[in-house]
Amino acid sequence: QSQELSQARVDYHAALLALQEQGTRMVCTGKMHTDRICRFDYLCYCAEAEEFVFFHSNASVMLPNLGPRRFQPALLDLSSVEDHNTQYFNFMELPAAALKFMPKPVFVPDVTLILNRFNPDNLMHIFHDDLLPIFYTMSQYSDLDSEARLVFMEGWAEGPYFDLYRLLSSKQPLLKEQLRNFGKLLCFTKSYVGLSKMTTWYQYGFVQPQGAKANILVSGNEIRQFATFLMEKLNITREETPASEEYIVVFSRTANRLILNEAELLLALAQEFQMKTVTVSLEEHSLSEVIRVIAGASMLVSMHGAQLVTSLFLPRGAAVVELFPYAVNPEHYTPYKTLASLPGMDLQYVAWRNTIEENSMTHPERPWEQGGIAHLEPEEQVRILQSKEVPRHLCCRNPEWLFRIYQDTNVNIPSLLDVLRQILKSKPNLKRTKTGSVVHPGRVREPKCQTSVQATNEAKMMVSWQIPWNLKYLKVKDVKYEVWIQEQGENTYMPYILPHQNYTFSENIKPFTTYLVWVRCIFNKNLLGPFADVLLSPS
Ligand code: UDP
Repeated sequence: QSQELSQARVDYHAALLALQEQGTRMVCTGKMHTDRICRFDYLCYCAEAEEFVFFHSNASVMLPNLGPRRFQPALLDLSSVEDHNTQYFNFMELPAAALKFMPKPVFVPDVTLILNRFNPDNLMHIFHDDLLPIFYTMSQYSDLDSEARLVFMEGWAEGPYFDLYRLLSSKQPLLKEQLRNFGKLLCFTKSYVGLSKMTTWYQYGFVQPQGAKANILVSGNEIRQFATFLMEKLNITREETPASEEYIVVFSRTANRLILNEAELLLALAQEFQMKTVTVSLEEHSLSEVIRVIAGASMLVSMHGAQLVTSLFLPRGAAVVELFPYAVNPEHYTPYKTLASLPGMDLQYVAWRNTIEENSMTHPERPWEQGGIAHLEPEEQVRILQSKEVPRHLCCRNPEWLFRIYQDTNVNIPSLLDVLRQILKSKPNLKRTKTGSVVHPGRVREPKCQTSVQATNEAKMMVSWQIPWNLKYLKVKDVKYEVWIQEQGENTYMPYILPHQNYTFSENIKPFTTYLVWVRCIFNKNLLGPFADVLLSPS
C-alpha cells in the first residue's frame, strides 16, 4: 500500500526543508465554518494522535486567523451536511522546530481533497452528500483535477458503493484508517479541506424537521452534467429511446419496505401506459446496470427510499412516482420530490400514499432500527399502532417514523392509477422537453422620464427606455417591461406590465410631486431582469 504514495515524485529534502522553514500555510474561503473551504501547503496528519497538525514558522500563514474562535465550534464542516457536530474539522498547532523531535514526515505528492463522507451505506447520502459535492468542489479548484487524491476522514470502511467514489479521480481514494500505514507523520504537499454545499438540496432534520433546503443554489443543469460525467465513466451512453420502445421501471426493494403486489403493479402499469415494464433492485443488479436501465426509462416507480436518488439519471420529461407506506405523509419527506422539481431537471413528480390500513403489513417485532416497536412501553406501542399519521419529527431515531416507513404495502392499483392520470400532464416522455439554458434579460438601457403639468390637478409622466443589450442576440417569444412608480416618501408603488419601450402615465400622477421610477425587462412572463438605475421625476 505504501508504494502507492511513491516518494519518487517528491524531492524529499526540498520538501522537508520547505516544511521546516515555511511551516504550514493556509488560506480559506468563507465567512463562517459552514461555508468554508481551506487550501493548505504542508498540512500534516499525525496518525498516532489522529489529529491534523499546523506547523508554525516565521513564514506560515493562517487565514482566517480566528484565534480561539477556531474552536467555536470549529474551523469548518468536513462533510457537506451543514453544521453537524460530528463532522467538524480542526487542527492542532506546533512550532516547526518541533519537527526535529518528531518521526520523519512522509510527503503526499498529490493534490489532495480531504473530507468526510456522511453516510456511505446509503445511496441517497452517497450522491447528495458526497459525490455531487466532491465533483463540484473539484471543479471549483483547477488543481483538483482528475489526478487528485481523495482522503475520507469519517472513519468508515469503504462501504458498498466505493466504486462510485473511484470514478471521481484516477487515484485510489484513501480512508482514514489507511493513513497510518504510510507513516506516523503524513504531510500533504497541497491539500484542500472541506466540501462545497452549493449542490445540496435537502436537510435531514437535525435541528428542524427534514425538508428542502431554504436556499437551493443548484439547478437540473448541474445535476445532469454530473450524471453525464458518471455515465461516461461507466461507459453508459444515453440514446433516445424510440417511442415504440419506451418503458417503465419499477425499482423494488427486496429486504424491507416491500411492494407486496409487485406483479399486479407491473401488469397494471404496462396496461395503463401501453409500455413494457421492468423491475430492478440493488440486490439483483449492479448499480451500473440500474443506471443504464433508468437512463432510458420514461417512468420510475418506487417506494420512498434511497434508491430513488437514481432518478437523477432519468431522461428529461420522464416521471418519478414515489410510493409512501400507510400513515406517512409524502409532504414531510421530500428529498426526491425536491430533486425532481429542481428547475431544469424537467421531471414530472407524483407522490402516492397508502391510505388503507389493511393494505399495510407492519413489523413491530423487528429490531428498532428496522422499525420494530416491541422495545417500547405498551402504551406507547398502542399509541403508535392507533396513529393515522406520523407527526413531524427530528432525525433520526423516531420509533413511530421508523415503524411506519418500514411497513410493506399492498398498492391499491385503482387509487394509484387515479393519481397518475390526474397528475401526469402528458404521457410521460412523449413530449420530451429539450430546454436550452435559461437566459435572463439584461438591464433596460437609457431609461428616461419626463413629467408635464397639464393643470393644477393633472399631470403626465412619459417613461421610455431601450431594449436590453442582450435581446438583439436572442429569439425571445414574449418580451415585456415592468415599470414601478412610487411617490417619494410612500412605501407602496404601482406596478405596470407594458409591451412597448415607452408609455405615458396620466392616471394617478399628481403635479408637483416627485416619483421614483423603476424599469426592468421580463422574458417569457417570468424571467425577470434587473432594474435599471432608479429614475427621479421630475429630476
Ligand atoms: N436498500 C435496498 N433494498 C432494500 C432495503 C434497502 O437496496 O430492501 C438500500 C437503500 O436503497 C439504501 C440502503 O439500502 O441505499 C439503506 O436503506 P435504508 O432503508 O436504511 O435507507 P432509506 O432507503 O430509507 O434511505
